[in-house]
This record gives sequence, structure tokens and C-alpha cells, in this order.
Amino acid sequence: MQQRASGASTRIHYAGEGFLIDSHAHLAMFPEPERRAALERAGEAGVHAVLVPATGREDLELVAELAGLHEGRVFAAIGFHPHEAATCDAAWKRRVERLLESPGVVAVGEIGLDYHYDLSAREDQRAVFAWQLGLARERGMPVVLHHREAWEDFLAALDAVPGVRGVAHSFTEGEGGVIEVTGRGLFVGISGMVTFPRGDNVREAAKAVPTGRLLVETDSPYLAPVPHRGKRNEPAYVRLVAETVARVRELAVEALEAETDAAFRGLFLAAP
Ligand SMILES: [Zn+2]
Repeated sequence: MQQRASGASTRIHYAGEGFLIDSHAHLAMFPEPERRAALERAGEAGVHAVLVPATGREDLELVAELAGLHEGRVFAAIGFHPHEAATCDAAWKRRVERLLESPGVVAVGEIGLDYHYDLSAREDQRAVFAWQLGLARERGMPVVLHHREAWEDFLAALDAVPGVRGVAHSFTEGEGGVIEVTGRGLFVGISGMVTFPRGDNVREAAKAVPTGRLLVETDSPYLAPVPHRGKRNEPAYVRLVAETVARVRELAVEALEAETDAAFRGLFLAAP
């Protein structure tokens, strides 16, 4: 198994511990100067780090650049989202491989299957997902996983590449789904949907995740939590997600922050 030659993952820890982290925010989708302002507000809200996943040709370079620009505060995942799978040709694959070497790039993502929108042919989605899972295993890097209405194929793809570490982000599958993914060694990301009146499935998932396997996220600019629904989401609001998850898990917010921070470091910042 090829290890990352640079050892970059051990050099980029943020200082201190027990902090609130937004484990999934598409900051590349924010225009400037709103991006910088959103990062400042995150800092003021006590959000110490943000993981920014790429989605494809439009944002790969920018996502890698943001991690280099905000060292120790912004971390990046590089990959092709299932919506963009059809555009991931050999030249783009080489670019993904190259960008995975950039400073602050800690994961392959956002990758997976989306049969709800079917924006790329399912065949292309499965092929590009499988290629990226293999790439992650070969590099010893974790993955950021997206799945929607593709549950059986999603699990089958994971089972075909045993040993891959990662997070199933913005999880909505309830307790049974939590057992399936954590049983495969994965982490579970809970988004602002946990605050929605009709988010019982997400609250059920948030409660069911075993200690040490939980992450919180905003999925900015989407899925703004209550009371910001319908507006652009931003990393500062991960505090609202954390507060709701803490209530569901009957924990103090500080305990939840410590738990999710440790999980984030273990998954994304520890040497493989
Ligand atoms: Zn996403």
C-alpha cells in the first residue's frame, strides 16, 4: 500500500483540542468577499476548522487553493461528485491524482452515488465512484461520501473496496442505516436537517451513532438549520447543528464538541 510521501497529514493540525468543526461546507461555492466574511463569522462562532469538499471540474482547483490559503483552518477533499461523474475523463483523473498531493488536502471527496437526480448516467457514477474508492485505499486517505436513493449499490461499492475509511455525510437513513455504515468502519455526518421539524429520521440517526463515530456539518450553502431555513447556510451555523445533536444525545454541547473534534482529527488528520 502506497503511503503519502509528504507526511503532510501530521503537519497540519490546528492548535488545541475540543473544538467545533464543520466537517462539510462547500466554501468554494461562495463568491468573494462573502467567503472570507463567512470564514470570519465561523471563527467568531468558535468554529475552528472547516472541511471543504470538491464536486468536480468547476471547483477542484479552488478547493485545493483554499486549503493552502487558510492552512490549519480549511482542509480539503478532492474528487468528483456523482452529479459530475460523466465529465471525469482520463485528463481530469490525472488532475485529481495531482491535487490530492496539495497541502491541506486530507480526503478524497465528495464521491458516491445519486440516483435521485441522475445527473450522470448511473453506469458512469458507479465507475467513477469505484475508481475514487480505489484511489483512496491506494493513498491511505479517507473519503467523504454522498449517497441518495442508491443505498444497495452504495453499500455494494463500499464492500468491493474493504478497508476504506471515511464519512457518510448528511446522513438521513435512520438507525438501521447507521448500523450498516458504522459496521463498515465509517463515520456518520449529521447536518442541519437534524433541526428540521420533519427531521425525525436524522434525529434517530444522530442518537444511534456510536460514540467516536460522529461528525457534525453544515453542508453549506445548502440545508441551513432552523432558524435560518431558506437562507444561505454557512459554517458558523454548525453550532446550531451541534446544539441539537447534543440535546438528542443527552450530552453537554462541550462534550459533543470534544467528541466530534476527536473524531475529525482521528479520521482526517491522523497519519494513515
Ligand atoms: Zn456536499
